[in-house]
Amino acid sequence: MARYTEAVCRQCRREGVKLFLKGDRCYSDKCAFAVRAYAPGQHGQSRKKVSEYGIQLREKQKARRIYGMLERQFHNCFVRAEKQKGITGENLLIMLERRLDNVVYRLGLAESRSQARQLVTHGHIIVNGKRLDIPSALVKAGDVISVNEASRAKDYFKGMAETLATKTIPAWMILDAQNLSGKIDRFPTREEIDVPIAEHLIVELYSK
Ligand code: SF4
Repeated sequence: MARYTEAVCRQCRREGVKLFLKGDRCYSDKCAFAVRAYAPGQHGQSRKKVSEYGIQLREKQKARRIYGMLERQFHNCFVRAEKQKGITGENLLIMLERRLDNVVYRLGLAESRSQARQLVTHGHIIVNGKRLDIPSALVKAGDVISVNEASRAKDYFKGMAETLATKTIPAWMILDAQNLSGKIDRFPTREEIDVPIAEHLIVELYSK
């Protein structure tokens, strides 16, 4: 599958905001955006007038990068969100939050969404007792996400229960730290999704 291969921190610099793509490093003084808070490249520091289209495009790119998705996947999500009842932008964000890789990250089983994606594709995650290795799979209310029994002996998961117990997770999930698992209680509301995205701009962009 195609994937993004450039330096991860360039994405934050391109969008002009910290996207928290690297876990702990993002909170340290090693964060590249803290050192160079301007766009990468030769003209990164020059001031440019941004068109309405440019603003909408950047918002979509920001969302896409936060959730680690390629253009086609992201657009497909938008099309699905558009067909649902309710507000398209909110539907889109709720759908992005329901992705299995995002849920693994939100539960605290991974430091970043990209790490969560790796845990999923490597078969370390089970949903309702069955292995599910598709990061884009959408979870439903009532689903139980946990770490594969066979994977728990790995160094990565050893001692994780203690770390998990100290984490704050979103109110729409129920964490069982001791069992390295979590349950989807319900879908999140827009207010509970803490991503810096103005989703109406994405809707405007795709509605052109
Ligand atoms: Fe972005 Fe994290 Fe890199 Fe900082 S360390 S630039 S927040 S990905």
